[in-house]
Amino acid sequence: MSNNEKSKLTKFNLPEWTFEFHGHRCPFMPIGFRMGTLALEKLGVGKSFDHQMHVFSEMGVGHPQGCMQDGIMSATGATFGKGMIEKLNYGKVAAIFWYPGKKDAVRIFLKNEFQDKLAPHEFFKYRKQGIEPSGIPEEVRKDIIDIVLNATNEELFNVTILENFKYTPVKGSFNKAKCEVCGEYVFERYLRVKDGKKVCIACSERESEEAIIHLPNSLISKSAK
Ligand SMILES: [Zn+2]
Ligand SMILES: [Zn+2]
Repeated sequence: MSNNEKSKLTKFNLPEWTFEFHGHRCPFMPIGFRMGTLALEKLGVGKSFDHQMHVFSEMGVGHPQGCMQDGIMSATGATFGKGMIEKLNYGKVAAIFWYPGKKDAVRIFLKNEFQDKLAPHEFFKYRKQGIEPSGIPEEVRKDIIDIVLNATNEELFNVTILENFKYTPVKGSFNKAKCEVCGEYVFERYLRVKDGKKVCIACSERESEEAIIHLPNSLISKSAK
């Protein structure tokens, strides 16, 4: 096969609606879409219509790779609104993908080499001057996005199979009660007891423990090390 034929076969076809959803044209949302697409392939499943795929994003705050999460949600259907994506805030460009009925989960990491390959691009010269992606010249954005779309999965990602990944999703419930202080409805699992009263987290002056309540055991023990 000639290189020309190969590049035609490997140019990734990113749906235009994903940019509309994400809001701007940047390289990271497309990387996330490709990561999510690869996760579907590795797990042998299609995009989730309902509550199937769960994603544990290792990304944190304050780094531009967070844009990838919109791509991951778009590709997999594991959306924030459906409660299917969690952030672990490790500050790593990786995500874990778990699907009900599958024994193993998949962890995908954006290779250091590809991160290093993108880093010197003109796109980041603008970003470092505080210019938002929408303010960067179109040809600069197109060029960096094409680098992403023309890369092979092997150039982009490290894939690890997480064997026997145990995860029990939180069971959905419509049960709610009124907070005895502010009177607003609260879903039951979020009610706390303060001075003998059932109250919401805001009125209890307690921190939300949610982050440590429902993450998979394997992730909790790993992060505790
Ligand atoms: Zn973006
Ligand atoms: Zn309250």
